[in-house]
Amino acid sequence: MTATAEGKTGTPLHRALKGERPTTAADHSRELATVLLAWYAENRRKLPWREHPTPYWVFVSEMMLQQTRVDTVIPYFLRFVSRFSTPADLASAPEEEVLKAWEGLGYYRRAKNLKRAMEQVEQRHNGEIPTSYEALIALPGVGPYMAGAILSIAFNLRYPAIDGNVQRVFARLFALPQPSGSPALQKSVHQLVEAVLPSKAPGAFNQALMDLGATLCLPRDPVCSVCPLRETCAAFQEGQPTAYPTTTPRPHLPEVPRIALLLRCAGEIAVEQRPTAGLLGGLWQLPSRDLQPSQPPDKAVAAWLLENEIASPKPPRYLGRIRHTFTHLRWVMEVFEVCPTSFVQGQGLHWVSPDELRQLTLPKAYHKALALAGLKL
Ligand code: SF4
Repeated sequence: MTATAEGKTGTPLHRALKGERPTTAADHSRELATVLLAWYAENRRKLPWREHPTPYWVFVSEMMLQQTRVDTVIPYFLRFVSRFSTPADLASAPEEEVLKAWEGLGYYRRAKNLKRAMEQVEQRHNGEIPTSYEALIALPGVGPYMAGAILSIAFNLRYPAIDGNVQRVFARLFALPQPSGSPALQKSVHQLVEAVLPSKAPGAFNQALMDLGATLCLPRDPVCSVCPLRETCAAFQEGQPTAYPTTTPRPHLPEVPRIALLLRCAGEIAVEQRPTAGLLGGLWQLPSRDLQPSQPPDKAVAAWLLENEIASPKPPRYLGRIRHTFTHLRWVMEVFEVCPTSFVQGQGLHWVSPDELRQLTLPKAYHKALALAGLKL
């Protein structure tokens, strides 16, 4: 089939699902599912949570996989389920211990939500991950994608699980014009996935789509030459797979300038705890402040030392700049080392040895800051 022969809206599957050839939609949907499942049987990624897809393992893995690459998640997942092997283990564990097991994975709200979700599983669902969409979606941190993934993968129920990978694959398969990330694209993809999702093996189908998106239908460089769906892919037929999903310019991410102090005295390091609510709530950090607009970092450090009566024989040493991006903002943090003559008390400061520091949960940005001084946690 060619673009000339079939026109811009593409393939038989595309036309059928759009209602142009309604009598063939079911056939084409079946064909797509058959081709995809056959490819998945041969090419699926071997992942620990797939080898034993207990509902708890699927739940933990899906929470960890939000915003995080599979390769990064695997070692964390294995350590986590070995330390907290049941919903009851996780529900009864101290939050600090859960955060420590999560340290480095980022987006710590997920760890807190996971623990709270397992507390509710214990209290309301007799320790069993619920099998209804309504009950799952009511748990902390569970959205439509995650509920669909758990229901289809762990319980083989016919629910779509549409993540970014699946959206990209469908935007290309059907040459959808709606922009990436828009509610209109989500709605179109949801309708199309609903139409092609088989009632047999819906979990395998959803995972096949995820794997196809992660290994072949890549954002910048799709490997169409070996893709099992290229015959039914409208974007491939058009000859421009990367044109989909279409994009709108990204909004500028606000930058928050900050300073952080590595205060060292007699082999110990000062830390402070972040407020429990808000960004990185309850985690530990080097003493830090946001800068006022156009405030020079070295002046801010000098003012802070003066204000807190911190005497240092040597001037602050500039260690470098850390840039750390969150979903909604970016920290640009200037890091200074100061060695006061005595332990400074108050100001919420706690002095800890390097070993004690390793026991605390520090956001990734502060691992980077400590690395500037040659300290590895
Ligand atoms: S043919 Fe290419 S663009 Fe289409 S689904 Fe396959 S990898 Fe993606």
